[in-house]
Amino acid sequence: MKFRFYGNSQLVSLLEKMTANNKAAKTVLFFGEKGTGRKTLAEYYCSLLMCENPIESKPCGECKACKNIANHVHPDIIYAETSGKLGGYSVDTAKRICSDAFIKPNNGDKKIYIFADCHSMDVRTQNTLLKIIEEPPEHVFFIFTSNSKNDFLPTIISRCSSFGVSDCSEEECRTALAEKGYTSEQIDSAVKSFHGNIGMCISFIEDEKLRNSVELTKTLVNSIISNDEYNLCAALYSLGKERNSIREALAMLDRQIRDCAVILSGKKDNIGCYPEGAYRLADVLTASQSIKIHNAINSAWHAVETNANTAVILSALCAEIASVCCA
Ligand SMILES: [Zn+2]
Repeated sequence: MKFRFYGNSQLVSLLEKMTANNKAAKTVLFFGEKGTGRKTLAEYYCSLLMCENPIESKPCGECKACKNIANHVHPDIIYAETSGKLGGYSVDTAKRICSDAFIKPNNGDKKIYIFADCHSMDVRTQNTLLKIIEEPPEHVFFIFTSNSKNDFLPTIISRCSSFGVSDCSEEECRTALAEKGYTSEQIDSAVKSFHGNIGMCISFIEDEKLRNSVELTKTLVNSIISNDEYNLCAALYSLGKERNSIREALAMLDRQIRDCAVILSGKKDNIGCYPEGAYRLADVLTASQSIKIHNAINSAWHAVETNANTAVILSALCAEIASVCCA
């Protein structure tokens, strides 16, 4: 079984060169939007580090290590456990990993710890990990994945080799989806909403929840366009109390506002799931209004992380957007 990659080809070949020349980074961060392949790259990096018979600097895909990695059963690849309302990494988890790191690997000569989706990792957790990242045992590697470098303390970032992971082109995305056996109708509607982001396109096709989120984003955008505070509030309240879904919805809405600002500045580069909506927003909002709405969404997004009541956060956001639109 061979790895097949779309997009990020420079990054893939850089990782291959690093490992082939025995210059593999001990601590790596893959950052980028959800769905761009951060986790796939993390696994690929594991295979590069652990493959028993690499072929032309690439993992063979056939050896025991490669197979174990592909089946997610490699005993020396440890996914750090998440906990809490936002699925974060606790100080206890970090402490456990710090002491586990000194135990020798089961199979080969390496042990890899993966911290996936480190959205705003607790500062205390990062400080607990810092020491082991500064001076890791010979056999230990760390891989982090997150949306952005800003999720980490500068002290951690300075110890990491950070690599940005980006969407591929819409064409590459279409090819990848076709290869997975999706119909052209499914591919069209997925690419329309999620462009060159293969992971999000697949979720859009497979997961009704994401399709509903796209519909919700459309409702939110249409409510802003028609300056309908009542519908805006109703749609935001329909999100319920689950903090991660609220954050995801706010991020999707924010992309629309970002697209609107980009359109207003005369460029064409949509990243949101509702391109027509972004153009219509640009007809009714000024650049300064779109920045104010972006700031409001951003503060709400951060407030969701605190223990504040989510209904209060959302109603404040709704009032703020309505007041910006009326100004
Ligand atoms: Zn192999």
